[in-house]
Amino acid sequence: MNKDAGIVEPRKKRIALIAHDNKKPDLLEWAYYNRDALKKHDLCATGTTGKLLANKLMTEVYCYKSGPLGGDQQIGASIATGDIDMIIFFWDGLEQQPHDPDVKALLRLAVVWNIPVACNRATADFLVSSPLMNNKYERRIPDFSEYENRKSK
Ligand code: PGA
Repeated sequence: MNKDAGIVEPRKKRIALIAHDNKKPDLLEWAYYNRDALKKHDLCATGTTGKLLANKLMTEVYCYKSGPLGGDQQIGASIATGDIDMIIFFWDGLEQQPHDPDVKALLRLAVVWNIPVACNRATADFLVSSPLMNNKYERRIPDFSEYENRKSK
């Protein structure tokens, strides 16, 4: 029997946007091109990315801390509490970041909680143009009850 639970995401998604410094121009251009689509949703972002996006799109963006100061971890925590439906994360594949462990942790939680993540522009294009973007979507969540109720040795 499949005990996995489904969380029904509303039409209005909670989207987290993040870009490493070398990728910020790319994310800003992408977001501006898709501004009408994005403005239908609740946007949040790491600190610097969020300020730039709010200015460029002239819309409200909830800003977490800057990524290297804990913003990626805050977004990871919001995934775990069920407060984020989608991530657009343009990370830099050519340069190390001081907070690489945080980036890995964030991507890990997105996988664990079955959150759609776009790590580059082409994937972001596919996500933003999906009919599921503006419809309810039942996201399957793995059943963690056995893990949560395990006995410690
Ligand atoms: P920033 O953080 O938006 O505050 O620059 C992005 C990141 O995680 O590096």
